[in-house]
Amino acid sequence: MNSSVPKDAAAVILLRQNTDPNNPEVFWVRRSPKLVFLGGFYAFPGGQTESSDAEVVVTNCGDDRALAAMLSCAAREMFEETGLLLARGSETLTIGQRASLLDDLESGRMSWPELLGHYGLQVDANDFTFAGRWVTPPFAPRRFDTWFFLANCPSKQEPQVSGDAELESGEWIGARQAVERWERNEVLVAPPVLHALKTVAGGLTDDLVERFLSVPEAHREPTRRIEFRPNYICFPVRTPTKPPATHTNAYLIYSSEEFLIIDPGSPYEDEQIALATCVDDMIRKGWLAPREIILTHVHPDHVAGIESLNAFLEKHHGRRIPVAAHRLTAESSKGQFPVDRFIEDDELIALDGYPPIKLRALFTPGHARGHLCFYDEANGVLISGDNVVGFGSVLIDPTDGNMIDYLGSLRRMRSLPNVTVLLPGHGPAVANPYDKIDEYITHRLEREARILKVVRDGASTAAEIVAHVYTDVSPKAHAMAERAVLAHLEKLEADGLVNQKPNGDFVSVG
Ligand SMILES: [Zn+2]
Repeated sequence: MNSSVPKDAAAVILLRQNTDPNNPEVFWVRRSPKLVFLGGFYAFPGGQTESSDAEVVVTNCGDDRALAAMLSCAAREMFEETGLLLARGSETLTIGQRASLLDDLESGRMSWPELLGHYGLQVDANDFTFAGRWVTPPFAPRRFDTWFFLANCPSKQEPQVSGDAELESGEWIGARQAVERWERNEVLVAPPVLHALKTVAGGLTDDLVERFLSVPEAHREPTRRIEFRPNYICFPVRTPTKPPATHTNAYLIYSSEEFLIIDPGSPYEDEQIALATCVDDMIRKGWLAPREIILTHVHPDHVAGIESLNAFLEKHHGRRIPVAAHRLTAESSKGQFPVDRFIEDDELIALDGYPPIKLRALFTPGHARGHLCFYDEANGVLISGDNVVGFGSVLIDPTDGNMIDYLGSLRRMRSLPNVTVLLPGHGPAVANPYDKIDEYITHRLEREARILKVVRDGASTAAEIVAHVYTDVSPKAHAMAERAVLAHLEKLEADGLVNQKPNGDFVSVG
């Protein structure tokens, strides 16, 4: 999948009728936790454009065909997801008629342009107000260039989410209450949604649209600082990492007084400058003191930016900051970069200031020998490093990687109370942490069972096993798959189910 070309999409920020102009109500939906892209996140109704969207004649739109197509897309998505018809003429339809129209559309009996034409309905640009275009950060498996539109809920219509594969629920909520729910760590929202909620919470003032468009991200500038949770900034940087990922997430965790930087991993100068600029901003504008660079593990895509960041701090702020990591990470990193402080398992890293942020370090080896996760029990944030990632898969490559340790680490993560979000080393935040960890454990055990079966059936080398088990993997990835198979064989051997003969071949035992 090419993650570099974002697809056009539209979303509607629907305002309730006769809403309080000082704290307007908007209609937000919860995406199904099972979705690969931003599962469990709160969002506005919307989605990707379809080719027939452009066939709709949108009134009062001049000859801006791109805008017309996106307005058509916005109205269609709104209709499909909530049954609400943002089209002139819809006021003459009964609830039953609208339901049967929706059925026509969903069953494919009529296309969107046919349906509008057949019932004399008109999508009118005057019913929508453009509120910015946001591009999904490049760390995501799917990327969108999303056009946001404000619209008023038509009289005699109510949006409704039936709860299906894509959307779990939908409801009206005061914009201020929605922001407060985010502040209380109760919901996950993507950057444009948070911006929209904060903007609408400022009231339906004359400068509303101006406020919407006041940030560069609303004009397709890449979003760099992603605050999935208050005080936890995710800052993806481009790295030579394992495909399909193209970026590694650095995290900047801050209180009112100081901040930590986790995994500055980019070897590229432009990306190092981008991260340094963010750090510089926090120091100069936020009056915050950088405290430490903390590493989840030793892999190059998590550590390659340490020296450049410290060189920047020395040059512009007169001091370097310590690098902290697990003892085994320090051992593996000898000669590459210094580790100034060892982080012990179960150690508490507390930030001075407000809010009280206390990260517990969890020694969680398996993907790498010195791997650490960091858990903030008060707000449920688990920084999962490369143990569980937002998309793609985790490679266990012996001997730095170890399958027995890895499964143990996953189970330890699974046993933590009150985890509400995973902030992974790659990809977006994970809103359903326990399901995700279970999925990882199940996947590994299934793979192990299949490997054991093919060994029992006579396969005796990693290459033979890969050919039988990794049928979904391209031959280019077979070398990597062989490493993963060796990790499983190592565990099966330790479990007494497989033996390695002196010639290197594997046989099943018993
Ligand atoms: Zn790694």
